[in-house]
Amino acid sequence: MTLFEKIIQRQIPANIVWEDEDTLAFRDISPQAPTHILVVPRKPLPKLADATEADTELLGRLLLTANKVAAQEGLSDYRVVVNNGEGAGQSVFHLHLHVLGGRDLRWPPG
Ligand code: 5GP
Repeated sequence: MTLFEKIIQRQIPANIVWEDEDTLAFRDISPQAPTHILVVPRKPLPKLADATEADTELLGRLLLTANKVAAQEGLSDYRVVVNNGEGAGQSVFHLHLHVLGGRDLRWPPG
């Protein structure tokens, strides 16, 4: 079981800021911006590339949860990032969206 599944199942603590039937959002333990929240599906999908047509609605819900947590944080400008695979920086293999904001964000990211 991944770390994020343990957070979803309340086996390890996290600062949860949003929860609904399909998604959960909690603060990143090592924030890279004043707001750094992770949005995850309850369904354990290892990475974005594993999503199929059957996940179409779930992927939309994840983005809508990202919008909701950004609004909760009072952010109008923010970045949503998905690292897909180790080479792209993914370290936890349970799909997650990073929602980053609260400071100027440069482009392109490293
Ligand atoms: P990735 O590198 O897979 O895109 O993102 C994983 C994220 O999970 C990292 O930003 C990391 O700081 C965060 N993280 C790792 N362990 C924990 C933890 O135990 N709790 C929380 N809230 N975040 C974690």
